[in-house]
Amino acid sequence: MSANRDEILKELGLWPVWKLREPPAADALSGSTGVPAVEVPAGRAGASRALPKRPPVVADAASALPLDARAAEIARMDWPQLKAGVAGCTACPLHKGRNKTVFGVGDEQAEWMFIGEGPGADEDARGEPFVGQAGKLLDNMLAAIGLKRGKNVFIGNMVKCRPPGNRNPEPLEVSQCEPYLRRQIELIGPQLIVALGKVAAVNLLKREASVASLRGKVLEYQGTPLVVTYHPAYLLRSLPDKAKAWEDLCFAVETMRDLQSRATTPI
Ligand code: URA
Repeated sequence: MSANRDEILKELGLWPVWKLREPPAADALSGSTGVPAVEVPAGRAGASRALPKRPPVVADAASALPLDARAAEIARMDWPQLKAGVAGCTACPLHKGRNKTVFGVGDEQAEWMFIGEGPGADEDARGEPFVGQAGKLLDNMLAAIGLKRGKNVFIGNMVKCRPPGNRNPEPLEVSQCEPYLRRQIELIGPQLIVALGKVAAVNLLKREASVASLRGKVLEYQGTPLVVTYHPAYLLRSLPDKAKAWEDLCFAVETMRDLQSRATTPI
């Protein structure tokens, strides 16, 4: 273990206790692995990377439509259309208080996707998710399992505009914003989603449950495997749960390894 890794684990409050049961295969964590993508149900989107080009849409055109029609419109967008759609979105009241929309950041072909709740003040000012204190911890959590922001990881949120006073996003706000997230997931085609905290978990899974009850299970969002861990902002306040978060990260690594080996094992 390198000094750098030691420092990361110390930052997580985990040093020197935790070890992965088996060391992760270097290429399970490091990006372009040469390993074929895990098989996904038909209609899921790795496939949609090759979608034919559509004429550009006006940035805010979808905002005025009823939710189903909006969702259908957004489901056909390519990356530039999606980015323009988010940047100009006025579909819920959150747009009124935002400085910047927070589209999400990272590798658009990532195998890993981490999804938080919504932008806070720092993110609203910068237009990038997880750039405040919680973001530093998230970066350390990523580093602890060999990942790095922007490399084989995409980081996003349930909502793309800051809820005032950092309150939880309302159901209407989540429902108006979710088509963008769903389309991002389709275009990226991650092999594994990590839901950060209860707001992300319950809104992705569409059921009320505690993080404690959802941890350590492989769940799914629209056909993509999903695991749940604590939100970094919560971990900053609750040191004992950092150890559980480390267990969750190890579980996520094992899950990714299983998914990749299943995808390469001949039937
Ligand atoms: N908390 C979140 O859930 N998302 C961010 O982008 C920042 C803090």
